[in-house]
Formats: sequence, structure tokens, C-alpha cells
Amino acid sequence: MKINEGLSYDDILLIPGYASLLPQEIEIKTKLAGNIFLNVPIVSAAMDTVTEEKLAIALALEGGTGVIHRSLEPEIQAEQVGRVKRFLNWIIEKPLTITKNNTVLEARKLMNKNSISGLPVIDLSGKLCGIITSRDLRFCRDNTLKVDKIMTPNPFVESENVTPESAMEKFDSHRIEKLPVINSKGKLIGLITVKDMEKHNNYPNAATDSSGRLIVGAAVSPLDYSVRIPLLIEKKIDFVVMDTAHGDSKNVIKAIEKIKTDYNITVIGGNVATKEGTKHLIEAGADAVKVGVGPGSICTTRVVAGIGVPQFTAVLECSEEASKNNIPIIADGGIKYSGDITKAIAAGADSVMIGNLFAGLKETPGREIIYDGRMFKEYRGMGSIGAIQEGSGDRYNVSSNEEIVPEGIEGRVPFKGDLKHFLHQLTTGLQKGMGYCGCSNIQELKNYKKFTKITTLGLKESHAHDIVITHEAPNYSRINMHT
Ligand code: IMP
Repeated sequence: MKINEGLSYDDILLIPGYASLLPQEIEIKTKLAGNIFLNVPIVSAAMDTVTEEKLAIALALEGGTGVIHRSLEPEIQAEQVGRVKRFLNWIIEKPLTITKNNTVLEARKLMNKNSISGLPVIDLSGKLCGIITSRDLRFCRDNTLKVDKIMTPNPFVESENVTPESAMEKFDSHRIEKLPVINSKGKLIGLITVKDMEKHNNYPNAATDSSGRLIVGAAVSPLDYSVRIPLLIEKKIDFVVMDTAHGDSKNVIKAIEKIKTDYNITVIGGNVATKEGTKHLIEAGADAVKVGVGPGSICTTRVVAGIGVPQFTAVLECSEEASKNNIPIIADGGIKYSGDITKAIAAGADSVMIGNLFAGLKETPGREIIYDGRMFKEYRGMGSIGAIQEGSGDRYNVSSNEEIVPEGIEGRVPFKGDLKHFLHQLTTGLQKGMGYCGCSNIQELKNYKKFTKITTLGLKESHAHDIVITHEAPNYSRINMHT
């Protein structure tokens, strides 16, 4: 019997090739799943010490996307998704409004409750008649007055065909802060605010949907998807991730089939590590396949259960299968340095999912820990005792009231500051790798396929050696060294 060799990222290097590109010509835009595209091929892991709304917002603003974990009650998870989706509104589709017959007091209360500085005023048929802002309210002493007595009538408006450029032109030339959008019958159909426009301008690389809202995903399981998905759809979720440790199993495949028939939503299936597993998920209707059984930094599945496939080989094989159907692959787990992202994509992935490298960021929900005078953040596997006790057990088919046999550990990682700067290290590392291979985009890197297998001595030579590091670089930490 022939036993196939399984390789991890550390077992290989990409062989450099002729390049005639400038770094700024290297494009790292990618397809995540279905019709969803990212400007940065990086997704944050659905883990309770990694992705909640703060990290999801920060990452999507920079071009990637986050998957909000599912150890949250379905309503809370959906609320978080809603906040990510509302963070960068280009056109607010259902703005809060007030009718012209309401009182000034009612307008005040509505604005205070929702922390907003203005409301479009409509009549009973939904037609726009004016706008009321905190400036109008500031100089009004009589709370019993009707709104139409103090509103600005006939405000500047935009039509359905508004473009960001025409809206900005109106904001600038009329020095206004809010622009109602109306249809041909004069009915209010949206609102544009200068604050949102400015946010857009500050984040030109943001990963957004067709309405300019940030892209975000949420984790679901075969047991809870029917409760979570309707709530998530209501909040305009972009995609769900079937978050399981063994995606090549009957209940996961059935759940994906059911989701694809019952809902109109993009589904990422996983996790698998074989061609057959990839094929099964694609046949079930998955729009992308997440690959990784055992590579995670906090994962003990391979030693506890004795199964898994080293990640480089897993991505190589699964992507070969997925490419037959043009289905994207997400390489999940085991990314220790930016160079591993280059290797994962060269192996055939379209994007990578990251837990550990993000866990130390300011925006994650993990606790901050001070130890020996240095700052760390908590990071733990979703199959660890702590995470299972707090509700993640069904990923590993265990319930919190039976004796737990964990498949993950709990620990701490160094505090890293904010995402923006750290992500720059990762994306630039990837672009450097692409530059060395002469690849100008992700597809070219996926097709490059020039690898060399290295020995333990080769790996030792790859790392910093024969020196005591006195100034740690932001993209190279000794904590990741296993040599
Ligand atoms: P990392 O980036 O190497 O830390 O890997 C993160 C990935 O590990 C996640 O996206 C999950 O797929 C996986 N994972 C999370 N928790 C556990 C666990 O407790 N055991 C095994 N794998 C896990």
C-alpha cells in the first residue's frame, strides 16, 4: 500500500521566477464565494476570541471580511451583523422618518434614542416634505409645535440614479449634511449622509456589497441554522459559514442542501481536507469550501484523534477538485507568517482564514492579560474546555454536560495593537511573495505551481538564525518559531 506524503507550509517554499512588475501593479483582489469579492484575501476565524463586530468592521474596512462566531445567542449574533452592515452606509435604505404632524418633542425623542442628528419629514403617503435637523431643534423652545412648523421645507434631494460623485458635489456646494433620496413620485426611498460619504472616502479599499455596506459573514451549524439564518438575512448578511470540524459528514451535507433550497444565501461549507470531502460539499451546493483539518495553532485534533492532512497538501488536493467547478477554496488555519498566505494561495486557495495571528489585536473580543509585565490577549480553540463550556460543543459533537474530551487548547498571544497596521504587514508580505514569482494577481499565483520541498535544515536556514533578536519585527515573532 502506498502512503501519500502530506506537506505543511513549513515543508515547502515557492521558487522565485522572472518578474517585470512593480509592487503597485500587484492586485490581491479575490473571490470569496458566489458573487462575493474581497480586496484582500483574508477572512477572520469564527472564534469567540477572534471575530465579533469590532474585528469584522475593522477587517472589512481594509478589504477582508470577518465571520462572527456562533457561541452568541442567535439574536445577538444577528444584531452584531446588523451593526457591521450599518457601519458604512452609502445610501441608508430605510431611514428613520417623522411625519409632518408629529410634534417637536417626538422628533427630539426619536433622534436622541437613535443618536442621529436629523430626520427626513414625510406626509402620510410617504412623500418627502422636508428635513428636520438638530440645528432646527436647538433654536426651538416650544416642544408642542408640529414638525412642519420648524422643518426645512423642499430640501435638496437626489434621485434613484444618484452617484457618490453627484452626492458629494451637492454636499460641498450647498454645505448640507443630509441628502434624502426620492423616486419619481416624490416618495422617500433613502438617505445619504456626509458622515457616511466621508467614511467611504477614508476607506477606499473596503470590502463592500453592491449597496456600499461592509461584507460580513456569520457561523451556523447543522443544528442551529434554521434559527439563525432568517435573523441573519433580515440584517442583510452576505454569507454564512457552515462551521464544523468534519464537513464531510451526512448532517453537514444535508444541512447545506437544505439551506440552498430554503434560503437565497451564499454558503461556505467546511471543514474538509480531501478531494472527496470537497466534492461532497460542492455537490450539496456549497458556494466555497473551507479546507483545514488539524492545522490550527490551538488545535489538538491530530494528536487527540490521530486524523488530519498537513495543510499545504490538503489545500493543493481540495483546490484541484474545486477548480473543476470553479468553486473557491478558503485555507483555514495554520497561517503563522505572511509567507504562509502566499504558499496557501499558490497551493490553490482563493483566500485564507486566520485565528491566531489576529487574536492579539485590539479589536478582538478576547480578554487582555498582563503577564510578566507584558500585555497579551486570550486565544482559545473552539474545541477547548473553556469554549465548549460556553457553548461551542456541537462543532465537535460534544455537549457541555458530558465529560469533555477537548480538541483544542486555551492560551494567550502577544498584544499586537490595531488591525490596520498588522494587516498591512500581511498583505505586503503576500505582495512581496507575488513579486518574487512575477505574479500580478491571485489567479496567476494560483497557477504558478513552482515549489521546492525543504528539509528541517532548510527550514532552520529560512528562519532568523545565529543571532539574538534584540528588536522584534512586526511581521516576525519568535513565539511562532517551532524549529
Ligand atoms: P489558526 O489561525 O492557526 O489559529 O487557526 C484557526 C482555525 O483553527 C479556525 O478557523 C478553525 O478552523 C480551527 N479551530 C478553531 N478552534 C479549534 C479547536 O479547538 N480545535 C481544532 N481546530 C480549531
